[in-house]
Amino acid sequence: MIRPTDADAAGKNLPTTAQLAEALRAVPADQRNFTTQVTLSPKPHPDSTAARTIAGEAMSHIITLFPVNSAQSQNDFDNRVMHEAGHNFHASYWFPEHVSGWRAAATADNRLPSPYASERTDEDFCEFNILYNTARGTPCECLREPALSESMGEKGRRSIAMSEGVPLGSRIVA
Ligand SMILES: [Zn+2]
Repeated sequence: MIRPTDADAAGKNLPTTAQLAEALRAVPADQRNFTTQVTLSPKPHPDSTAARTIAGEAMSHIITLFPVNSAQSQNDFDNRVMHEAGHNFHASYWFPEHVSGWRAAATADNRLPSPYASERTDEDFCEFNILYNTARGTPCECLREPALSESMGEKGRRSIAMSEGVPLGSRIVA
């Protein structure tokens, strides 16, 4: 974890070290393994605008979280870190045939885990992954086999998508 000084972090609505640790704890270990570093940036993402805050990004096994305008709950941090960890996770194994399979399943069930999921197939995956991880092991779970396998697109989405009572992913662009 790389974080700014307390003075530089003031007013940026970034997680504390304890909040980030808690958010990472919520990510299943087999997904968290694909992230090796989290950086808390005191500066906005260069592509953020007044109308659209880019709150996080992930690449090369690194998650970067950026300042946001409003106070964040632990649930907000959990969702955002899980979303970004999902990018590092899928980037390590998603091949074109998986992406097309996922897209076909998403089109078939025609339901989105969040509005942001409509932006791109990988964003849909990351938003859906939050639902999946949250429901896993609870009464909301209705999968008979691991969804995060090669067949996850077709078998996972329809049976678990939009389970009632499962919190949706962060609405902040990430
Ligand atoms: Zn994303």
